[in-house]
Amino acid sequence: MAFSPVKLPKFGFLYNGLYITCRHVSKWIPSSLRTLLNIDSLQARQVGDPILREQAEIVDISTVHSPEFKQMVERMFKVMRKAKGQGIAAPQIGVGLQVFAMEYTGQHMKELKDQGCSDKEMKRMGIALVPPRVFVNPEIRIIDSTLLAFREGCLSIEGYSALVPRAKEIEITALDMEAHPITWRTMGWPARIIQHEMDHLKGNLYIDTMMYKSFMKNDWGNYIKK
Ligand SMILES: [Zn+2]
Repeated sequence: MAFSPVKLPKFGFLYNGLYITCRHVSKWIPSSLRTLLNIDSLQARQVGDPILREQAEIVDISTVHSPEFKQMVERMFKVMRKAKGQGIAAPQIGVGLQVFAMEYTGQHMKELKDQGCSDKEMKRMGIALVPPRVFVNPEIRIIDSTLLAFREGCLSIEGYSALVPRAKEIEITALDMEAHPITWRTMGWPARIIQHEMDHLKGNLYIDTMMYKSFMKNDWGNYIKK
């Protein structure tokens, strides 16, 4: 009888009575990133896409140093800026890796003011400018677990928003684009963006933890007959 590898269990095999677990082989290697970036669009993946519900994988250091990884991060910024977003996680461009990018610009602040947000409200929200930042293999620790609920949206649930309770202050540790370790303790709006993006890396979306009755279509007012 021929030894058929097809009959082996999916994730391991018996060797002298020992169960050997095979190392998980990632499909997110530089060449697959290159292929995806060549074919994919500048639109964020939308809710319903299975990749938004998967746990993202840890990034290998060798991948961080590859040109394809840098291209992937550039693509993340392009997609985020096109949609006027403040944060984006790799799964939102179809890559199941633990990476997210964020920025909060003067333009974001101006748009918030134009929508009628007062200085007092902005202070309450903890709005603060954040230069473009990238976090690879991030982990967070809650510093102040006081929950604050503010309205947020997501590039992957276009056109909607809801109140979402988030911890007030957190500390994030991660690698930067050069694979150097970084730590950042922050509160207010930047802490909210970070918690939102960390959720993406676990396959979670804000609609899982939102205050359900606050969920709305942002332009609902346009549907009222005048
Ligand atoms: Zn999101």
